Amino acid sequence: MIYDFCVVGGGISGIAIAEILSRKEKCNICVLEKNSKLMSESSADQHGWFHLGSLYSFLENPSYLKNLIKNIKILNKYYKNFDRFNLFVDKFGKINFKNIEDSWFSGSTVNYYVASRNNPDLFSKNLLKKLINIVDWEIKIKKFISRHNKINDYNILFDNSEEILSKTNFINYNKKKILKPTSDQINIDTDTFFLMEGLDKPMRSKKIFSDLLSSFLFNKGEYFLNTKVLKVDNKNNYNEIILENKKIIKSKNVIFSCGYGLSEFTDQISVVESPLLTVYPSVFDGNLVKLTPNNDNTINHFNHEINGEFYSVIGSGLSCGLHDENEKKRIEQKLIEISKKFFLNFNINKFHKIYFGKKVEFKSSENRNYSYKIFKLSGKNNIATIPGKFSMAFSLAVDVYKYFYNEDPTNNLKKFKYIDYKDVSANKHYNIVENYLSSL
Ligand SMILES: Cc1cc2nc3c(=O)[nH]c(=O)nc-3n(C[C@H](O)[C@H](O)[C@H](O)COP(=O)(O)OP(=O)(O)OC[C@H]3O[C@@H](n4cnc5c(N)ncnc54)[C@H](O)[C@@H]3O)c2cc1C
Repeated sequence: MIYDFCVVGGGISGIAIAEILSRKEKCNICVLEKNSKLMSESSADQHGWFHLGSLYSFLENPSYLKNLIKNIKILNKYYKNFDRFNLFVDKFGKINFKNIEDSWFSGSTVNYYVASRNNPDLFSKNLLKKLINIVDWEIKIKKFISRHNKINDYNILFDNSEEILSKTNFINYNKKKILKPTSDQINIDTDTFFLMEGLDKPMRSKKIFSDLLSSFLFNKGEYFLNTKVLKVDNKNNYNEIILENKKIIKSKNVIFSCGYGLSEFTDQISVVESPLLTVYPSVFDGNLVKLTPNNDNTINHFNHEINGEFYSVIGSGLSCGLHDENEKKRIEQKLIEISKKFFLNFNINKFHKIYFGKKVEFKSSENRNYSYKIFKLSGKNNIATIPGKFSMAFSLAVDVYKYFYNEDPTNNLKKFKYIDYKDVSANKHYNIVENYLSSL
């Protein structure tokens, strides 16, 4: 048999792509995953922060926010018929969330604590440098606030909304939505930080993944575990996919969505390693992102649930090059240090564990590249994909569909049964806490 599509990699990008392609009638697709579970590498390592635009409002390059707004429109159009999908854009073009049990996105908010221009992180002994820091940061803050205001006021469903919203500068600046933070449970100087409710949401990654997989399997898609792809040979009308177990699979098109594994097939990617700190029980009642110009002082916190109890997943702006073990040790200590300083309920005697995950990006002239990317690999009909973020796998999937079919996918899902598959890994932080609790 010759498949129409073989997707290499069973992470979020592979499954989102396989699912959307399977919506086309009479299309044979398989997913090949080298591990014994799906969603077992970066897609399991991530901290469950679904990006809807807040963090990206801060970045210089407007293309990131543009992609995020496009992603919301894509979610609203092509994923709204999943029963547990709870985001919707109302008739005024405002983003809303339905209250559904086990939904893709949690109802709780993500609060942004942002350094104001009098924050000590902007200080420098050199007066000129200090002035530059202040002006530079003030521009970023004003853009951040203006973009939030505009997204809250504008009809996101307008045709060119992504263009308009991502280019918003100071025109919509006003202080209406700015709040004074309280220092309850956290060590924050309420005079040098302001608070704004963000657009982002915590996500239930395993539910999202399992729903996509349910739809894919209902559409007769197949997946194979413990199946590592070694290379692909191009034949006249198809590709021969050579597996580690010496077997060969034939497919007309091959899509490499294999995250860090892409480094075996292309040199167009860059990889950094980022730490996450898991703490049980939770050290803070909500979700927050603290932004300051000093990367070492930025921190974020997401609450996740296990059997009705909460634990903390804490991230930061810290990262290092691949396999830099010395730098990893320094970063681990630094993350513990800033967490201890910031969260009043954190102390070293609480159960805690740090792990590093790999962030895979398409190489670009910028220091970091958060954009999703589809690019050609050698050989006919072979492409590679990078989501940039778990959150962006949906735009990536729809664009891959359009790349091959030159038309829009259907959003008309057939009624299928939702199953929490045993072959889908839970998030790594969940497994860490679960193992700890079962060891008690
Ligand atoms: C610490 C950390 C925190 C993050 N936090 C967030 C967040 O909160 N929100 C967010 O949106 N994004 C976040 N991200 C980014 C997000 O996790 C990734 O962008 C996304 O999960 C990548 O998905 P993927 O499917 O491309 O890669 P992966 O999930 O790595 O999947 C690739 C799969 O391919 C398989 N594979 C590799 N080589 C082969 C081969 N030769 N043959 C067969 N299979 C192969 C692997 O085993 C793997 O299962 C975070 C990333 C990290 C590291």
